[in-house]
Amino acid sequence: MDIPEPPVPPSLRSGPFALRATLVSPRSSGDFLFEPDGILEVDAAGKIAFVGPAFAYHGATPVVDARPMWLLPGMIDLHGHLPQFPMTGMNDYGRELMPWLTEMMGPTERKFDGKRSRERSLEYLSLFAAHGTTTPVLYGSVDEEATDAAFDIASRHGFRLLLGQCLMDRCRYDTAIPDTQVTRIRLAQSDALCRKWNGHDHGRLLYVFTPRFAPSCSWEMMRESAALAKAHGAYWQTHLSETPGEMETIREMFPECRNYLEIYDRAGGLGPKTIFAHSVFLSPEELVRMKETGCAIAHCPSNVLNPAGIMDLGRYLDLGMKVGLASDVGGCHDISLLNAIALGWVCQSVRHKLQPEDSVELSLKRWLELATLSGARCLGLDDKIGSLEAGKEADMFLADVQSLRLTDGFDDKWMEQLLTLLVFRSRPGTVRATWVRGRSVPGPGIFETPERQFRSLRS
Ligand SMILES: [Zn+2]
Repeated sequence: MDIPEPPVPPSLRSGPFALRATLVSPRSSGDFLFEPDGILEVDAAGKIAFVGPAFAYHGATPVVDARPMWLLPGMIDLHGHLPQFPMTGMNDYGRELMPWLTEMMGPTERKFDGKRSRERSLEYLSLFAAHGTTTPVLYGSVDEEATDAAFDIASRHGFRLLLGQCLMDRCRYDTAIPDTQVTRIRLAQSDALCRKWNGHDHGRLLYVFTPRFAPSCSWEMMRESAALAKAHGAYWQTHLSETPGEMETIREMFPECRNYLEIYDRAGGLGPKTIFAHSVFLSPEELVRMKETGCAIAHCPSNVLNPAGIMDLGRYLDLGMKVGLASDVGGCHDISLLNAIALGWVCQSVRHKLQPEDSVELSLKRWLELATLSGARCLGLDDKIGSLEAGKEADMFLADVQSLRLTDGFDDKWMEQLLTLLVFRSRPGTVRATWVRGRSVPGPGIFETPERQFRSLRS
């Protein structure tokens, strides 16, 4: 696999090192760090030893001057599908979820076996890093070898990864295992994968039990996967309330449940390590139940591109729900969370203009927080990642924001406004280096030739 070396000098490939740059980050205290001339020091263990203005740094580590670049916390993508990468940006927008899944995504995912994963996962994970995402939370295919291979590649190349074998025992796209055995066999495979990878390298790799969603899982599959997740202290993820057509299917298949969330509640799936993707149409009862059980919502702004619509993000945040941001690879237009912020900002702003009494307009700083620190809180990892703060692991990326200006004439007093440039004009190549736990990972530089860029999106 032809992945370029990280385009950073050897002195910056792993800690200890110190970088001088513009530091941009949310902080645990609730305020926002914007330090035009700052220094961030990474120690030998990959943790942030110092973060602050350059004049206040008196450490012994030699400083590499990366100004005028920006250093930001690595972004956390709470939802996507590893096997769907080839479909990214190539969707039949406007199509209902259920036929889209069976006619377009099923055949794509079916191809993602162990061999395909070994050939492609390095490229896919590198593409995340090339866009500043350091923690993707992903669904694998149903193939256990494919999931194992992706973990293996992440372990060797330094990526942080949360991943699970996709569990389906109804409406399946694979027929290799008979109906009578598929539930037991897939659960045993996921159990073995969790035992092998969950917590690997001091928690850099984490396992997520992944029943696809209620229509493609038996009660036994949902219940037993939730029990395994709790027994291992692992995560549990699934889809919830994405489109009106899906909701109709749910009402027909589960007439005994008052709402969609109740299905997962009855299966024992709710808890602080549970992530629900989408969650566009939640009733007040569902929101209350999610909050009291500590579940997280992976908000996918790309929902507006299919029949789902625009989530009432402001109401969810006002209620104190745990919400983070997600690309929804490959049902999205792009894997970049900066692009997800741009789309989400536009959607929520339009919603606010049309319904000012029933929505809020969020600042770009708040959106950046959703893509970083809020995502870390959703995963219960905010003591380790999500912001540039001393003591945390150095998951971060360096962005060439100045080059995104159309013309010269930049004035220091407008520096903070450059956040709009990063969000709205970011493009392949803007991210110049990405680190996980202070170690540079492959990805930035992947777009150096147009041929490379096109090849990376081909199945
Ligand atoms: Zn999904």
